[in-house]
Amino acid sequence: SSLIRLEQLCKSYTMGGQSFLALDHITLDVREGDFMAVVGPSGSGKSTLMNVLGCLDQPSSGTYYLDGVEVERLSDNKLATIRNQKIGFIFQQYHLLPKLRVIDNVELPLIYRGMSRRERRERTIEALQKVGLGDKLHHLPSQLSGGQQQRVAIARALAGQPPLLLADEPTGALDSRTSREVMALLQELGGEGNTIVLITHDPAVAAQARRVVRISDGRLTEEKGAVS
Ligand code: ADP
Ligand code: ADP
Repeated sequence: SSLIRLEQLCKSYTMGGQSFLALDHITLDVREGDFMAVVGPSGSGKSTLMNVLGCLDQPSSGTYYLDGVEVERLSDNKLATIRNQKIGFIFQQYHLLPKLRVIDNVELPLIYRGMSRRERRERTIEALQKVGLGDKLHHLPSQLSGGQQQRVAIARALAGQPPLLLADEPTGALDSRTSREVMALLQELGGEGNTIVLITHDPAVAAQARRVVRISDGRLTEEKGAVS
């Protein structure tokens, strides 16, 4: 079934009295278990799409269903709740809190979930073991390599077991070998039934997803692996 459904979705920006469509009538279905990349050059609309999919920004028109909930026009409070419950974010710059130990960085988003401390700890440790960092629980982010920091961020995204993992240029700050390791981890997670949407400008990174859609001047076209 569909986890994400966009119907005729538009986002317009106004500049100097002129309005233009950064997202131009996008229709898209992402099924549970899909591992999909959105690829396109700078200025094509990736950040705008990421912000809408991530419930950080509202579309100008059209509809967006996420896990059965019609999210456009919800209040900012409701959007924040949906972000916390439904989406695990992975960013180019990791966005770890530098003064918190690895284990506390991963646990933090779970605190807003009303889980017992014991369950939070269990899920946190399980997620860190999953990404191969079970021996780094008490390190600070600065004591880890870039690839390890990104794996902490992936563990943080996984720990809440959200229906959607949304990764924005997750390899953008990494060298090519480390980048391959992080992509191998995402492929493994995709193979285990996680739904992953990966946004990237890099066709070589996108090619490692099972399905690829291209964005160009705010329009989407299927490139590889679509299921009809
Ligand atoms: P990408 O992430 O692929 O580089 P963006 O989504 O950032 O693309 O931008 C798509 C287009 O929308 C670009 O032409 C960009 O300049 C424009 N744009 C993005 N954000 C804004 C904004 N807040 N106001 C006006 N124009 C914007
Ligand atoms: P990215 O590196 O993720 O593509 P950008 O450099 O395109 O990000 O944009 C950085 C920020 O500036 C974003 O918040 C975007 O919405 C905003 N932005 C991008 N282009 C424009 C623009 N032409 N006018 C106003 N804001 C913009």
